[in-house]
Amino acid sequence: MSKKDRYGARTIGNRELAPESLMMSYGYRPSLSEGALKSPIFQTSTFVFDSAEDGKAFFEVAYGLREPAKDESLGLIYSRLNNPDLEILEDRLTLWDDAEAAAVFESGMAAISTTALTYLRPGHTLLYSAPVYGGTQYLFSEILPQFGIRTHPFLAAGGTRAMEAAAEEVGTFRMLHLETPANPTNHLVDIEAAARLARKHSDPGTPALVAVDNTFLGPVFQNPLEHGADLVLYSLTKYVGGHSDVIAGACLGSEERIAEVKGSRTFFGTMAGPWTGWLLMRSLETLKLRMTRQAETAIRIADWLHAHPKVGRVYFPGHLAEGDPDYELFRRQCKAAGGMVSFDVEGGEEGAFRFLNHLSLVKLAVSLGGTESLAQHPGTMTHSDIPPKMQREMGITESMVRLSVGVEDFDDLVADLSAAFEAI
Ligand SMILES: *Cc1c(COP(=O)(O)O)cnc(C)c1O
Repeated sequence: MSKKDRYGARTIGNRELAPESLMMSYGYRPSLSEGALKSPIFQTSTFVFDSAEDGKAFFEVAYGLREPAKDESLGLIYSRLNNPDLEILEDRLTLWDDAEAAAVFESGMAAISTTALTYLRPGHTLLYSAPVYGGTQYLFSEILPQFGIRTHPFLAAGGTRAMEAAAEEVGTFRMLHLETPANPTNHLVDIEAAARLARKHSDPGTPALVAVDNTFLGPVFQNPLEHGADLVLYSLTKYVGGHSDVIAGACLGSEERIAEVKGSRTFFGTMAGPWTGWLLMRSLETLKLRMTRQAETAIRIADWLHAHPKVGRVYFPGHLAEGDPDYELFRRQCKAAGGMVSFDVEGGEEGAFRFLNHLSLVKLAVSLGGTESLAQHPGTMTHSDIPPKMQREMGITESMVRLSVGVEDFDDLVADLSAAFEAI
């Protein structure tokens, strides 16, 4: 199956088709699979070569022994290197972020760790925004330093000035990892400013790379590559998977960068399986529908919470007012506010717990981005490994609840939240 065979048309006449129109068919040719409308699950560990010459040619390209000829793509060898379900999925993922290439992984953490270890070497410095996802935080603060990599956080709440100060302090760095909006405070980090800093603070000969974890808003409402990022990272477990039934991740960027990342993926063995690829193709068909509905409901929920007497502050990018330093940035960088709403509940941790224990339609669980609404207490759950003092610096309060808004009926959600507030 050559790459050309797998590629579908992206246009009708002069018209470029939108990603949501291409998610059902792009990259898949039914005639190669007995006419099946949907891509089958290629549940196979290995692939048969037509000839020994083919096998040799495929390995030469896979192991970088020679440059591929024009239009020659990687032949199918073994499912740790490539598999049709993963290749089609990767082609479809590139459309949303207008990326040249994508690499899929068996988890978001596999994508983040494999990407970090592709570029970071002993003596290199990694700058990162804080707070980041708990797993990422642990990797950066506890594991990478054991390999001689210096890691240096800066507060997303401190704005671009905090990022610039951190860059000045370290001098040069190899990688700048951002999570924006930050979880769970929804602070924004300026990707264009990060790209400018990376150019200014690179080691001679090795350009510093900007990697953005785009799990919260992407790929529908934020596209970091168009703001100058080099790499986009996803936990596909969240909005892209969208049904809370699969763990997966991805890294997107230029052909050159993704070839480097895929090189590490082959040898670290962090590739996803065909079943994961198939589930995610199913999910991508409704991605825009789901995220659009979740974002529409989240605005209404955030407004409703803002007016509720038992709610303190509401943390939601859609509520940024003119004059707020993040307001201009939000308008420049984000296409919508997304479906994540955090808020402070009356009564501190005790109040927040009572609220969470009395929800019924909304489930008490970590994770986010699925069709069902989920709520949790960041201070004692997703961010519990961060000491309380540092949590406060990051803007995580004792009374904060994080809500991932699903696709349920708005009035039903309000009924559930109202009943839980009454129980406080
Ligand atoms: C969940 C999450 C991750 C980790 O992804 P897994 O698929 O659980 O490995 C990374 N970053 C963010 C922002 C997340 O929400």
